[in-house]
Amino acid sequence: MSFDLKNLVTARMGENYELHSRHLNPKLVEVLRITGFDKVYVRAEGAYLYDAAGNAYLDFLSGYGVFNMGRNHPVIKKAIRDVLDLDLPNMVQLDCSLLSGLLAEALLKIVPSHLGSIFFCNSGTEAVEGAIKFSRAATGRAGIISLKGCYHGLSYGSLSVTGSGNFQEGFGPFLADVARVRMGDLVALERLFKKGNVAAFLFEPIQGKGVNYPSDDFYQKAQALCRAHGVLIICDEVQCGLGRSGKVWGFEHWDLEPDIITVAKSLSGGFVPCGAIITRRSIYEKVFSRLDRAVVHSSTFGRNNLAMTCGLASLSVLRDENLVENSARMGRLLIEKLDALRTKDSLIKAVRGKGLIIAIEFQEPPQIGLKLAWRLMHRIDHGLFAQLVIIPLLSRFRVLTQVAGHNMDVIKILPPLTISEKEVEYFVDAFDKALAGCRRFPGPILELARNTALKNGKRARRVGK
Ligand code: PMP
Repeated sequence: MSFDLKNLVTARMGENYELHSRHLNPKLVEVLRITGFDKVYVRAEGAYLYDAAGNAYLDFLSGYGVFNMGRNHPVIKKAIRDVLDLDLPNMVQLDCSLLSGLLAEALLKIVPSHLGSIFFCNSGTEAVEGAIKFSRAATGRAGIISLKGCYHGLSYGSLSVTGSGNFQEGFGPFLADVARVRMGDLVALERLFKKGNVAAFLFEPIQGKGVNYPSDDFYQKAQALCRAHGVLIICDEVQCGLGRSGKVWGFEHWDLEPDIITVAKSLSGGFVPCGAIITRRSIYEKVFSRLDRAVVHSSTFGRNNLAMTCGLASLSVLRDENLVENSARMGRLLIEKLDALRTKDSLIKAVRGKGLIIAIEFQEPPQIGLKLAWRLMHRIDHGLFAQLVIIPLLSRFRVLTQVAGHNMDVIKILPPLTISEKEVEYFVDAFDKALAGCRRFPGPILELARNTALKNGKRARRVGK
């Protein structure tokens, strides 16, 4: 019988978690079951996911920021159908494809004019790896400086510079010649630069983990230091780029002039892996410096037609639907409304963000009963409280969110840039009610305990079989 995807999906939908337990990552399945995140979503559109019963879930996670244009955007879907219908040659490799040329042209129109060359790859981590290589080739130096708390990916180069031990444990040794400085610490930065071996200062203008960024002129001063010491500036825009922060690029908030930008995630509207390194032409020329080095850095799938098509369609959606402006407007509204909750709820310490990358940070409340509950939770697990907010947000209000990083009292929201006031209102109301539930200690802990017991019960039954 010939392959029929639709029949296959219809016949097997619902076996998702069993299949993953058996063949993929059972620990992830366990975490999803305990937290009640083990939903079976059968359809997705815009800012919503749907289960088999037709319930809508508001997606304020956006697949970790790959769906800036919303899920299953019709313009991008049509472009995919069109490119398949065209039967174009794909990845001939020893040719120059039209679509990659067109996407490079389109991307260069939305970056500052001093950037003139593009390299296409498949993911954020691959873009960061390439940017590290490019900066070394261009400067003849080895050192890469990043910021504490940063996240740049999980392959060896990017993991070596990533500032979270949780991701590194068990995987060392890492790249030598890397160092991390605290955001704001210009003295440490200059001390490292003075050693004369630093190729690049690599940072996310708005850090994804915890949504942190400087409130002062740290970046501008760091840029001046980079120029003084011949250090290249790499802005990792994988998460905060392409409209997420209410401007096309995160670095625009500080008027920076990066030498290299890394992009991925929503570059393809979430359909096909797609990443890019955008650099000064002079840097590119130092990498691809001779005819025998014409493919010295390459990636087999890097310029494939599906990714390039999705990139072209996504950039056109970003422009035609004014998503950057909408991100800025909806972000302001969300921050304003969430900040208003802060004044009435002592659990909220801060609301921060730019555009639609927003963090809500919690703190120990002053009320004596709550204070004890808070301390107890933190003794059990430092990241537990934030979990206890996102769990009822999903189970009671059908809103999907995430904790902002390991051991943080912070949740992060990353809605699609297509949301309207309706989604903003719904989220703020749901968040307010979910947080009120967290005040009724041990209510949310009981939900977690019940899920754990249910999961263990299921496992016991499985073992007994
Ligand atoms: N850089 C940043 C800023 C990111 O947020 C991420 C992914 N969260 C990466 C790099 C790595 O991207 P990928 O998962 O596509 O490798």
